[in-house]
Amino acid sequence: VPGSGRLPRWLKTDIPTGDKVNGIRKTLRGLKLHTVCEEARCPNMGECWGGGKHGTATATIMIMGDTCTRGCRFCSVKTSRNPAALDANEPTNVASALAAWGLDYIVLTSVDRDDLADFGAAHFAATVREIRARAPQMMVECLTPDFQGRPELIAPVALSGLDVYAHNIETVESLQRVVRDYRANYTQSLFVLEHAKRTKPTLLTKSSIMLGVGESDAEVMQTMRDLRTAGVDIVTLGQYMRPTKRHMKVHEYVAPDRFSHWEQVGNDLGFLYTASGPLVRSSYKAGEFFITEILR
Ligand code: SF4
Ligand code: SF4
Repeated sequence: VPGSGRLPRWLKTDIPTGDKVNGIRKTLRGLKLHTVCEEARCPNMGECWGGGKHGTATATIMIMGDTCTRGCRFCSVKTSRNPAALDANEPTNVASALAAWGLDYIVLTSVDRDDLADFGAAHFAATVREIRARAPQMMVECLTPDFQGRPELIAPVALSGLDVYAHNIETVESLQRVVRDYRANYTQSLFVLEHAKRTKPTLLTKSSIMLGVGESDAEVMQTMRDLRTAGVDIVTLGQYMRPTKRHMKVHEYVAPDRFSHWEQVGNDLGFLYTASGPLVRSSYKAGEFFITEILR
């Protein structure tokens, strides 16, 4: 399917409504949490927030502000060289709000803060510690920036008490400069994942690849192998969707059976879990998978 035309049928979805999602939306207004689910108008909200058949509700929230110092070509987050200062109360506020929400599984992510001396690593780690203290039963996955590949900044986050350390490689090696900000790269992202695992070997590590940006099958294969070699446990593959006309074009809408193929490849390569499908996002039903696939 050529990338410039209308959406293929398997990508047509409605923005979910329904009582459970509406109820959560109302709670969120009061808690002042920014969910990526709502901001990105993610089509999976019904499934993630609803919790699936095991009742494991998942949401993704963003910390460290709404403005990123980077400008990746696929991402709709605002960019500035000098975003607002960090809110020192954010770690405790986020943790109290999450405890009140009573979710089972939270994915904590952030913008990149290249303007800060530690790129926000201490703030990220403090937020996880506060969540652990206030909502000890909640499982925490962190989808982190690359912290410019600095081991002394990756380690404290890996040791903060999280269950899953996620960092996205986003695409194959040859397309890194086309797709991501110039400060990101393939080797650095592999190092982040490798170092998190080395720091705390019991951590689960996770990464995501966007398909449909011009990669070849051989390159996807190589990327999956490289992630395994870096000790990555969980991989997700999903279709790139262009957020606006100012963002890079979709090169191809990858057919659902190709995604099934990559899921099989992931299983053959020995990933603990592979989620692969057109609408799969890094955090797609992460809690549900954790319960059914990882803890089984
Ligand atoms: Fe978006 Fe993350 Fe890139 Fe910032 S670093 S532009 S938040 S993908
Ligand atoms: Fe939220 Fe991620 Fe689920 Fe989308 S896939 S609803 S962003 S948790």
